[in-house]
Amino acid sequence: MKNIKDYNLEELKEEFIKLSEKPYRAEQVFKWLYVDKVSSFDEMTNLSKELREKLKKEFKLNNFKILKKQESVDGTKKYLFDLLDGNAIETVLMEYHHGKSICVSTQVGCKMGCKFCASTGINFIRNLSSGEIIEQILAVEREENVTISNVVFMGIGEPLDNFDNVINAIHILNHPKGLKIGARHISISTSGIVPKIIELADMNLQCTLSISLHSTNDAKRSEMMPINKKYNIEELMKACKYYIEKTNKRISFEYALAKENNDNLEDAKELVKLLKNMLCHVNLIPINKIENGTYVKSTNENIIKFRDYLNSKGIVATIRRELGSDIDAACGQLRRKNL
Ligand code: SF4
Repeated sequence: MKNIKDYNLEELKEEFIKLSEKPYRAEQVFKWLYVDKVSSFDEMTNLSKELREKLKKEFKLNNFKILKKQESVDGTKKYLFDLLDGNAIETVLMEYHHGKSICVSTQVGCKMGCKFCASTGINFIRNLSSGEIIEQILAVEREENVTISNVVFMGIGEPLDNFDNVINAIHILNHPKGLKIGARHISISTSGIVPKIIELADMNLQCTLSISLHSTNDAKRSEMMPINKKYNIEELMKACKYYIEKTNKRISFEYALAKENNDNLEDAKELVKLLKNMLCHVNLIPINKIENGTYVKSTNENIIKFRDYLNSKGIVATIRRELGSDIDAACGQLRRKNL
C-alpha cells in the first residue's frame, strides 16, 4: 500500500485526480496531515465518509511506533522507531535557545563506512522514503506535543546517497501549506558526495550544507572516511566553492577532533590554509568514543586551543555542545545496541 506521506502536494493532487477526486481534496488532506497533524483518516472530518474509506484502501499513514526512548539530563531525547517492516531507525530531538531541532535518519544503515561513526558496522539495508523521513518529525511532535522548528539531516545514513527522497522530503517540509519549515531552518550533512553537492547547489534550495571534513590531509581523511578515495579533498573543496557561489550560503565544516589523530596545531594550520577566504564556519565536535571504535575524544584543552587558533586566523569556529552524551550520543548507537 502507498504511503500518503511520500507525496508532496503536487503529486498528491495527481493521485487524487487518478482516484477521480478533486485536487482541492488533496489540499485538505495535506492540511490535515501537516497543519492539524492528525494520525488517522477518520479525524479528517471535512472529508466524506466515502472518501475516507477510499483513502484507507489506497493509502497507509505509516505512523511509527516507538520501540525505545531515552532522555538525557540536558533534555535531549532519542527515539528508536519501528519502521513496521522489521527495521528500526533513530531520531534525536534537541533543545536549543532558538527552538526545537530534530536530527533525522535518511537510510537504514549506511554505505559510507566512516570509521568514527556508530552506524559503521550496520550494513546498508535500504533508503528511507520521503514519508519515512517526514514521519520522524510528526511522530516526535505527536509524542512530545511540540512543534519542530529546525531539521538536521544528520542521523543514520548519507542524505545525498538518498538524494531524491531527501529533496522531496524537503519540499514537503517547507511547503507553505504544510509544515512550513523554511529551507534556512534545514541543514543537510554530507560525507562529501561531490556530484550531489553540485546538483544541490544548482537547485539553490537555500538549505545549510554541512560537510563532514574531519581532516585536511587525503591519506588521513581516506583512513577516517573511505568516500575520500572516490572524491578527494581538492574535488570536495571545488564543489563547496561552487555551492557557495551558487547559493551565497555559508558552509559549515564539521571537524570531529580525535586525540593524537587530527587535533594538533599542525592540523589547525592546514585547516586554515584550506578554508582561507571561504564563506564558512567550522563546527568542532568532541568525537564520541564508540564501542570498538579506533578514535578517542581529544582533551578539552586541545579542543579549545584548536578553536582559538582558527578564530585567531579569521576562521569562525565553535565547539559543538555535547548534547545527550549520557544517552549514547554518537549517531547510530541507540540503534546498534538494540539490534
Ligand atoms: S558519519 Fe554519516 S555518512 Fe559516515 S558512516 Fe556515519 S551515518 Fe554514514
